[in-house]
Amino acid sequence: MENKLEHVHKKYKSIRRNLQKRGKYRKVKKTKRRESRIEKDINNKVSKKIVQEAKQNGMGIKLEYLKGIRKAKSGRNFRYSLNSWSFYQLEQMIEYKARLLGIPVVYVDPYNTSKDCSRCRQIGNRSGKSFECSQCGHVDHADANASFNIALRPAFEKGIDRLHVDSDACKGNTDIP
Ligand SMILES: [Zn+2]
Repeated sequence: MENKLEHVHKKYKSIRRNLQKRGKYRKVKKTKRRESRIEKDINNKVSKKIVQEAKQNGMGIKLEYLKGIRKAKSGRNFRYSLNSWSFYQLEQMIEYKARLLGIPVVYVDPYNTSKDCSRCRQIGNRSGKSFECSQCGHVDHADANASFNIALRPAFEKGIDRLHVDSDACKGNTDIP
């Protein structure tokens, strides 16, 4: 899913760069709208699939709590922000569809989910799609490692705004729930 979105983003970025060079600013705007339509379409399909799978297997859904992402959107790192925005949109869609079907949705603190080692809980090295922990030697696909971290984290219901308290308190906490 992420790859597909990244692919779409890269493609439109290079198209826009070209248009900008040639001074075609109205077309730049047009491609931005087209890109977000495509992203929305991908997110719609992916969220539908995830919710259907949860339904078929009688499972709930655990998501990263991305409340601050709207703010991050105006930050400096545009690429990061845009991908995060897409991911936030995906989560909103999953939540909406899951609620309609009565599938429980819970959240976890997203702090360092992609950097923590899912085996020993120390900070490891993520580079592209691979993860390696220098403490315990654990090697995994970066997304798989992050998914384990999400699965291992204590869940909370949305609406309880304790994210920032938790992410600070969790720094020194190595207890596995
Ligand atoms: Zn480790």
